[in-house]
This record gives sequence, C-alpha cells and structure tokens, in this order.
Amino acid sequence: TPPVSAAPPPTPASGHRKHPSPQEMGKELIAQILARDPDADIEPIQRAIDFAIEAHGDQPRATGEPFVTHPIAAAQILTSFLLDPIAIQAELLHDVPEDTEYGTSDIEERFGGEVALLVDGVTKLSRFSTLSHEQQQAENIRKMFLAMAEDIRVVLIKLADRLHNMRTLYALPSEKQQRIARQTLEIYAPLGERLGIWQIKWELEDLAFKVLEPEHFRASAKLLDTRRKGREGYIERAIAELEPRLSDAGIEADLQGRPKHIYSIWKKMQRKGAEIGEIYDVYAIRILVDEVRDCYAALGIVHALWRPIPGQFDDYIAVPKNNLYQSLHTGVIALDGKPLEIQIRTHAMHQVSEVGIAAHWRYKEGSKSDREYDAKLAWLRLLMDWQRDVSDATEFVEGIKLDIFQDQVFVFTPKGDIK
Ligand code: MN
Repeated sequence: TPPVSAAPPPTPASGHRKHPSPQEMGKELIAQILARDPDADIEPIQRAIDFAIEAHGDQPRATGEPFVTHPIAAAQILTSFLLDPIAIQAELLHDVPEDTEYGTSDIEERFGGEVALLVDGVTKLSRFSTLSHEQQQAENIRKMFLAMAEDIRVVLIKLADRLHNMRTLYALPSEKQQRIARQTLEIYAPLGERLGIWQIKWELEDLAFKVLEPEHFRASAKLLDTRRKGREGYIERAIAELEPRLSDAGIEADLQGRPKHIYSIWKKMQRKGAEIGEIYDVYAIRILVDEVRDCYAALGIVHALWRPIPGQFDDYIAVPKNNLYQSLHTGVIALDGKPLEIQIRTHAMHQVSEVGIAAHWRYKEGSKSDREYDAKLAWLRLLMDWQRDVSDATEFVEGIKLDIFQDQVFVFTPKGDIK
C-alpha cells in the first residue's frame, strides 16, 4: 500500500476543481465494497446512501462541498477496515441525528435496531463536555472505552469519521484546527495505535503535526523529500541483493520499501537529539511471505547476509502484541555500512496489521455472538495492556471492567493471558 501520509496535502477547494458529486461518491463506495466482497448485500447500503443524501439535503461543509460527502467519504475509509455492511450503514448515517431533522428512531425504522444502536453510540461519543482540558481528555477516553466495550465498531466508525475530518481540516478557522488537531494527537492517534490500525495512527499524526507544528512539519517533509531519491535507490539495491537469495532458498517473497512517517521521524529526532541521517529506520524494508516457517527462514537468510544489530530483534510472531500484531523485526548493518530495519511477516499477518482489532469483526466468519465475544476479549486485552502503561488510568479502568463484565468470569493465567 502506498504511504498515505507521504501524499501531498489536499489542496483547498478552489472554484476550478470539480468535486465528485455525492451520487458519484456513493457509486464509488459500492464498487469498493463489491471489490472486497462480490457477494455483499449492497441494497441496504444503497438505501443508506440515498437516505443520507436526502437527510443532509443541501447543507454545505466548510470545504464548500455538500455535507453528505463527509459521511460517504468516511464510509469509504471504513470499508478499508473490512467492516460489515451494518457498520458501513451506520457510518453513512452517523451525523444524521445531530445535524438533520431525522432522529435515531427514524434510522431504526428504516435500517433496523443494530444500525440505530451504532449511530447512537457514535452520536454520544461526539458530544463534548465543557470540562477543563485535562478532565475532558480523561472523560473522552473513558467514553471511548465504554463505547468500545458495548460494540467495538462504534470506535472504528468514529476513527474513520475523525480521519476524514482531519483530511479536510484546512477549511476550518485556525483556532478550531488547532483544537481538533490537539485532540486527535492526544486521543485518536493513540487509540488507532492501541487498536493496531497503524495506517490510521500515522495519517492522523502527520495531519495533526502539520497543523500544530507547521514549520517543523514543512522542514521535516522537505528534508525527507530531498533525500527521497537516495533513499529509494538504496532500498532498491538492498532488495536486489536480498531477493535472489530468498528465491534460491525456495521462498516466494514480496519485498517492499517501507514508507516512514514524518511525525514519527521528527519525534525520534527530538528524543535522540539526532540528525535525520542518523535515524536509521529511515531505511526500512518489509518482507511478505506465505507461511510462518518462511518468516523464520527469511530471517536466517537476512542475518546471514547482513550483520544483525544487537538488541534490535523482536519476535512478535511467537509473542503477538495485544492488538494482534504479528511480525519479526530486526535491524541489520546492510549495504555501505548503513543500518536497515526489516520486518518479516506472512500476507495474512500483514492484513491483520492493517486493520488491527477490526480483524475480529470479519463478518463472514463465525456467528454474531462468537464475533461479539471475540471482540470483547480482544478489547479486554487491550484495556489491560493500556492500563499497564498508564498508571493514572487504573482507577477508571477498574471501574469500567466491573461495569461491563460483572456477568462474566475471566481467569488470568500467571503469564497474564486471559482464558
Ligand atoms: Mn462526522
């Protein structure tokens, strides 16, 4: 997948550029869904598109486009998380109760209780309190946790909503941009990371960074850009060296250069006080293979070719992260004595790494109650993981656990697993 954040910033709406109409965007959405699942039932989705268009009427957005282009664009983002048609309908309708004359009951009547419940959950998340900044932040995180426990899809819908709002943030007054960008960096990007949806975390961070630190953003982006040719050439040479060795060993591998994200590089520079040339994982490669055993075989080949850097190896295949992420990570001294970061995983693991916890919600697999149970367990694991990192959060996390799981018994093994 191409780097989202490396794309040029969206150009402000000008009278010359023609935006696709809501109907055209709706068609595009349907095509995207069918491309992922040719058997998908698109009838209710088409109805949700039509209803959203009717309900929002000719409300404009700050960008000058019709408002309804926002929920449709958010639904397109959600489709890339492989979510089910129910969630897609809810995304299409998520701003209807707040911004139109129709309410949740109208949605329930037309689209059923499940869609209405998701829309209601998203609407509640969007209501902001008048508390102080710190209180509000804690309150927002608490709301997220509670909504997630009810139905993880609510938070995924909200993330897609926020990503589209961030992509079109340029149209808002500067002060509002700042506030939304700060909240994105404090709440939504970490949430994307916790949920294992890296693509969203990176894009949210870069978009927020651009608003909050425009000069640093421009400088980092420019620096990355001037070095792009050299970087790409280097990656090409490294791949050319590695690829034949893998195929000689009978490993069918897909090798890609891995895009780096402006904000993560800047943060690393801040932390280490280093120059960009010294941030070694600006050079990074990803190796995708078919089988788990190929991962380890490929790792052996990499380490035989280039000297591993001590302390840089992690086996997230044997010990997956709580957000389901699986991969082998290593750092080596590669061509020209330059450090190179390498990730090795199967195609299946790669897909999970792109959609994170949403992988629990593949609507074709298992019964609905199985999926709900799986998603709740995954959520609990995340919560525990988060709790370990944030001691301040302990109290309210404890409270939430008691609220949500009072009717269930979990057994914690000595290793910290949950049965
Ligand atoms: Mn919205």
